[in-house]
Amino acid sequence: MESTTSKKPGQVSDLLNKINESATLAMARLSREMAQQGMDIVSLSLGEPDFDTPDFIKQAAIEALQNNITHYPPVNGFLDVRKAIAEKFKRDNGLTYSPEEIVVSTGAKQAIANAIYALVNPGDEVVMPSPFWVSYAELVKLVGGIPVLINAKVENDFKVTPTQLRDAINERTKLIIYSSPCNPTGSVYSREELEAFASIILEKPDLYVISDEIYELINFSGRTASIAAIEGMFDRTITVNGVSKAFAMTGWRIGYIGAPKWIADACSKMQGQITSGANTIAQMAAKAAVSADPSVVSEMIEVFRSRRDLVHQLLQEIPGLKINLPEGAFYFFPDVSYYFGKTDGETTIQNATDLCQFMLRKELVAVVTGDAFGDENCLRISYAASEDILRDAMRRIKSALAQLH
Ligand code: PMP
Ligand code: GLU
Repeated sequence: MESTTSKKPGQVSDLLNKINESATLAMARLSREMAQQGMDIVSLSLGEPDFDTPDFIKQAAIEALQNNITHYPPVNGFLDVRKAIAEKFKRDNGLTYSPEEIVVSTGAKQAIANAIYALVNPGDEVVMPSPFWVSYAELVKLVGGIPVLINAKVENDFKVTPTQLRDAINERTKLIIYSSPCNPTGSVYSREELEAFASIILEKPDLYVISDEIYELINFSGRTASIAAIEGMFDRTITVNGVSKAFAMTGWRIGYIGAPKWIADACSKMQGQITSGANTIAQMAAKAAVSADPSVVSEMIEVFRSRRDLVHQLLQEIPGLKINLPEGAFYFFPDVSYYFGKTDGETTIQNATDLCQFMLRKELVAVVTGDAFGDENCLRISYAASEDILRDAMRRIKSALAQLH
């Protein structure tokens, strides 16, 4: 009898064929599989805090369960959760959203997907400073939109200039997406920089911004700025945030937006057909997280800062790498192009993807190619791991690179 695994696969849709698998999740899967086969893998591929969710948040979930908050929620999220998020926006960002202008979703990823579905028509252009987070471009392609990348290099702290932004915008541009602090570069835009962007955006009617602020609290610069708080920008902005990163809640899958009501309603309509709303127990846990004073996570943030400093020092000891000093998030994005064209006698490295594979094969250390983030000269290293793991990983990276001449 033929086994099911030997059956010839069918044909997936053309739409799905147009998009790539998430490179971060693909690398995480590969390293998990290699570890399961008994290999001594060190993986710095996934952007996920290694801390456990704080107890007061877990307690809120336990209470939600005990109180049988286990039925379908309103599609856009429980009213008291949306009120708590509105308070958070006021407290931390100087933004006044009503609960009707907030939608709670299954992770910031779904929040971003909803907003893209809500606004982008086939053929619309979506501008993104590059390097950008992997899913932005793929989600835009899913709706038939066209990602337009503005390139920023390590020499400029991976930040784009207002002139670059102006040059990228034309009559087909519908949306701009960026994250600050940025995944993968850790760069943080200042209020002044955002004001310069805002004045360009406001010149064109019907142009919107997704401001992805999921790393808001993992920010060592002391500067936070939400573009929606700049005069004129509230009606143009979808402010995205979530609990995954700052509260070590990646598996709970809760993210949210604040946006003008017509956009919030559209996101809710979308979500009503896809998920019917976010998990009820996780919503109550997220309410506890956003209601807490952000200082509850300051210890975690300090740990991230000292890891950042450690990895910065260790990367500087490796010849040929060009790096910036990230001000937020938990990634380094070194330019590794110095190693292109070099060989260990067997493999010649042509690009960052080759180099990732080489490091995985030679030293069992997993990082993600910069290709997926819009820069083929770079690699992304997540430093959301203990100092011991980070030292081990940096030693392996150094040793792999030393084999190339
Ligand atoms: N935006 C950025 C910039 C991210 O790095 C991530 C990955 N966590 C997300 C959004 C999605 O986060 P979530 O886990 O809430 O879906
Ligand atoms: N956002 C994280 C990362 O960039 C998690 C993976 C993902 O959601 O793609 O690694």
